[in-house]
Amino acid sequence: MQDPNNIREDLDLFNQIADLFLQDELDSPVANYINPENLLKDLDLSLHDNPSVEEEFKKNLKKLILSTPKSSSKLFFNQLFGGRHSKGVLGDLLAVMLNNSMATYKIAGPQVAVEKEIIKKVCDIIGYSNNASGTFPTGGSMSNFMSMVIARDTKKSQIIEKGFKHDFVAYSSEISHYSISKNASFCGLGKGNVRYIQCNEFGQMDVDCLENQIKSDLQEGLIPFYINATSGTTVLCAFDNIEDISKVSKKYDIWLHVDGAFGGSVLFSNKYFHLLKGVENSDSFCFNAHKTLGVPLSTSVLVVNEGSALEKSFSNKASYLYQTHDNNYNLGQTSFECGRRNNALKFWVLWKAIGTNGLKKMVEHEFDLAHHAREYINNNKDYTLYSFKDSLSICFNYKNYEPMDLCKKLYENNVLMVGHGNFNDKCFVRLVTINSQNTKQDIDNFFCLLEKFSKDFDSQIKKIN
Ligand SMILES: *Cc1c(COP(=O)(O)O)cnc(C)c1O
Repeated sequence: MQDPNNIREDLDLFNQIADLFLQDELDSPVANYINPENLLKDLDLSLHDNPSVEEEFKKNLKKLILSTPKSSSKLFFNQLFGGRHSKGVLGDLLAVMLNNSMATYKIAGPQVAVEKEIIKKVCDIIGYSNNASGTFPTGGSMSNFMSMVIARDTKKSQIIEKGFKHDFVAYSSEISHYSISKNASFCGLGKGNVRYIQCNEFGQMDVDCLENQIKSDLQEGLIPFYINATSGTTVLCAFDNIEDISKVSKKYDIWLHVDGAFGGSVLFSNKYFHLLKGVENSDSFCFNAHKTLGVPLSTSVLVVNEGSALEKSFSNKASYLYQTHDNNYNLGQTSFECGRRNNALKFWVLWKAIGTNGLKKMVEHEFDLAHHAREYINNNKDYTLYSFKDSLSICFNYKNYEPMDLCKKLYENNVLMVGHGNFNDKCFVRLVTINSQNTKQDIDNFFCLLEKFSKDFDSQIKKIN
């Protein structure tokens, strides 16, 4: 290669590869499955002492990109993110070029205000106080982690300096995200001190059980400090009753966090905002714009109703970092990270371009797609439905095909990317309508491909007895 460090040439190469990739995504929406054992035979990933020969380098890079699972295609339903909004991509590419860190005003300049504007808008929409604040953590798991730390420090601020005694307890529903358990370990609480509260038949936390558990923990001399309510559980997309839970949290003076990583973006829709009813009474709330709004990974927003609590837990002196301006503009004083990627810009570029109404349309369209999918299932006796209305997850089984095996074979045969889940001892396929670029025909096509594959490969797919 002539000069391996030439940004203009590499941007040209980027455009070439992006063109190939976008065309390939249309022509073959599911990447050819490669068994991990064959990876190093199929792709040249080896690193050497000497530089690559230019043509070989380009060829290898293109092949690697085209062999990677296509998470933005119309046939990707495997994860809670999917599709891509071009404005989100534009914003993210610019963030890469800028390569600011969000820690201080001196390094990030106006990008600080980009982040603060989104946080302020979100706080206004959900009805948080004028003292509210927030940050862009690296994802929903990190948002949940930060909320737990803030709750801990709010209950006993000495913990920040002196560490933790083991008489604290946290509460979360039995089907809440696994980050709650990990975060309990990370923040010194211990996984064993999370009470997993049972759910009703719709996958919502049973609020009576929650209150009874709190009462019995108080009787034991324990200190309840954190309740996590989920808005959009990972499998069923069930919305906990925030209003009832917030009454309990107020009564016993316990921090209420709302994990809206999946479903929290309903905040943009008047039609579905009711699923967050009572959110203004919570202490913290997060949602992932990378899940339902087509913004690239990762874009998570955490907001805290009493902003000083966020600062108290996450600020620290660092004379080598904070050299100009006050904490209000030095966002490192409210973040977990030191060097922090600019994850706000891509969301801001999208929001600026399409307005809040554009975000609302995306969310409502996804609910329309979910409704369409549920109708399809309800009108077809070969299917059994396991999920409920007001949800972006459509959980079902088709005939007597074993869902885990069906999903695996659909993947290995390059037909569809979809996953499975379970609830109340039932295992099922989980279709998620989180890609707002999909149409009702794309959803019909999903069922059509699944049915055709099941028929053609009938003898190879395991059955439920
Ligand atoms: C996806 C999800 C998370 C985790 O978000 P990441 O950005 O993947 O870390 C947390 N809670 C719920 C309910 C989720 O669905």
